[in-house]
Amino acid sequence: MTECSERGCLKDAKRIVIKIGTSSLTYENGKTNLKRIGILTRVISDLMNQGKEVILVSSGAVGLGVNTLKMEEKPDTVSGRQAVAAVGQCKLMQIYAQNFSDYGYSVGQLLITNTIISNPEMHENTINTFNELLKLKVVPVVNENDSVAVDEIKFGDNDNLSYIVSEITDADLLIILTDTDGYYDSNPNNPDAKLYHNIYDLSEEIEKAAGGAGSKLGTGGMLTKVHACRMAAEKGRDAVIVNGNDPEIIFDVIDGKDVGTLFVAKK
Ligand code: GLU
Repeated sequence: MTECSERGCLKDAKRIVIKIGTSSLTYENGKTNLKRIGILTRVISDLMNQGKEVILVSSGAVGLGVNTLKMEEKPDTVSGRQAVAAVGQCKLMQIYAQNFSDYGYSVGQLLITNTIISNPEMHENTINTFNELLKLKVVPVVNENDSVAVDEIKFGDNDNLSYIVSEITDADLLIILTDTDGYYDSNPNNPDAKLYHNIYDLSEEIEKAAGGAGSKLGTGGMLTKVHACRMAAEKGRDAVIVNGNDPEIIFDVIDGKDVGTLFVAKK
């Protein structure tokens, strides 16, 4: 393999996990952001055309379910949310299947719970399923199984799920799309806030700063993203938190441009 360093290595990533959250998939009025999904699927298809393998971890089951059922907001009972997720997950896959088919790709749905970690047989079967799908050039679309897993729907977060997926698929790169430009040293609304470009320090200290900023001033879920990326980097996988407003930024990440925050893989 040719010598490369940090950002320059990202172009060599062969297997990539991309995570997108509900807020990127929907407008503030709750309707689906078809434009962004359209761009995301085109970018992923192009990466597949380049010979890369892409796994998409997508939220949106509950969000799209609420919208499909024309509800004002998500139900306040667990069973209500589980039912809504069952509807929304179908809608989500319908949209992905439609979009990817424009570029000649099929999608395969994997709804998982953390039993795939605790049960060795399920663990192995899941790995095999991923590998078969990737061999078939299918885009695996992964979400938590919100409709059956009570704990998941209550505490689940797809940032952690994306880390677990990067682990079990032995991915080279994890890209978490979010609504800020990356991980800042304080709240991004603060004019003095500085964006971390490359993070080498994988200690828990760096993660705690995200918790502080997130909990007080609503930087919205940065803690779980930083945690997921730190863990991935610890395991030797590069991980990037980047603004998914325009998913074409994924090309910039892979081209080694200085976008978002890269958690440099531990060698
Ligand atoms: N699995 C949830 C959903 O699809 C979202 C969980 C998360 O975004 O962390 O609605």
